[in-house]
Amino acid sequence: MNYPQILQDIAREVSSLYGQGKVADYIPELGKVSPRQFGFCLHTRDGQVFTHGDSDVKFSIQSISKVFTLSLVFAHLGEAMWKRVGVEPSGNAFNSLMQLEYEKGIPRNPLINAGALVVTDMLVSTFRDPKAEILRYLHLLSGSNDIQFNESVAESERKTGYRNFALGYFLKSFVNLENDVDQVLDVYFHQCSVEMSCKELAAAMQLFVHHGVEPNTQQRLLTMSQTKRLNAVMQTCGFYDEAGEFTFAVGLPGKSGVGGGIAALLPGHYSLAVWSPELNKKGNSVLGMKALELFTTMTGRSVF
Ligand code: GLU
Repeated sequence: MNYPQILQDIAREVSSLYGQGKVADYIPELGKVSPRQFGFCLHTRDGQVFTHGDSDVKFSIQSISKVFTLSLVFAHLGEAMWKRVGVEPSGNAFNSLMQLEYEKGIPRNPLINAGALVVTDMLVSTFRDPKAEILRYLHLLSGSNDIQFNESVAESERKTGYRNFALGYFLKSFVNLENDVDQVLDVYFHQCSVEMSCKELAAAMQLFVHHGVEPNTQQRLLTMSQTKRLNAVMQTCGFYDEAGEFTFAVGLPGKSGVGGGIAALLPGHYSLAVWSPELNKKGNSVLGMKALELFTTMTGRSVF
């Protein structure tokens, strides 16, 4: 397969879509990002890396971080964690309060905000220094120690994240948050503020390509069954209220974030990360989603 050519063709085709989406600005600091950027990285199972465009530029991974905190917590707590959070697609906005009320404080899945807050709460209960643990884990998975929080982005969200605070207090009222709301939210805003490049993200997703074994160190971090479950949750819940559309168009498990990044994988074969800051109405990167659709269509390689 001539991947360099495929990536070039994809980049050319998606460039006509600039201007169709909008950079997220509900977190004021994110609104400062220049919109016309596009990065793509393909990382194969055997460690070959193909890149295009702004694949070394670091961006705010935002909700993509939910996959990593989830995998960290799942590895430590096992099946018991699913008593506090479900695994059904939400069919609602990622920050819906209504759904949490209907479901009596048990969030639908760990990739919407309410569910991610419960996972972060578990992280806070499990690790003495949860923020350091998140960075340690990301350094291990990506093979790069140059991954940090962006304090300005975390602070910007702390000042404006009223809805996330509301979800936190709501969870607390249902006795589904063990720690202080402020403490959980502080860790959550920091995990969302992590900056990574497409290259680093694609490398970090290799854990799920390799069925739970971290390929650089050959450490098994998740069981086969846990990896299967995480990939399934990414497939069904990873793309906001557009998980069905994403599965229909692209056919890969993964996770998107409002920073414009999307990380995805074909278990046993490859991981991909793509980034372009302009988002569609559901919160997914316009160019990113199209690029992934073109990739699975041109290569014929998707889950389906
Ligand atoms: N920190 C963002 C929030 O909680 C993440 C949103 C996202 O990327 O989906 O609103």
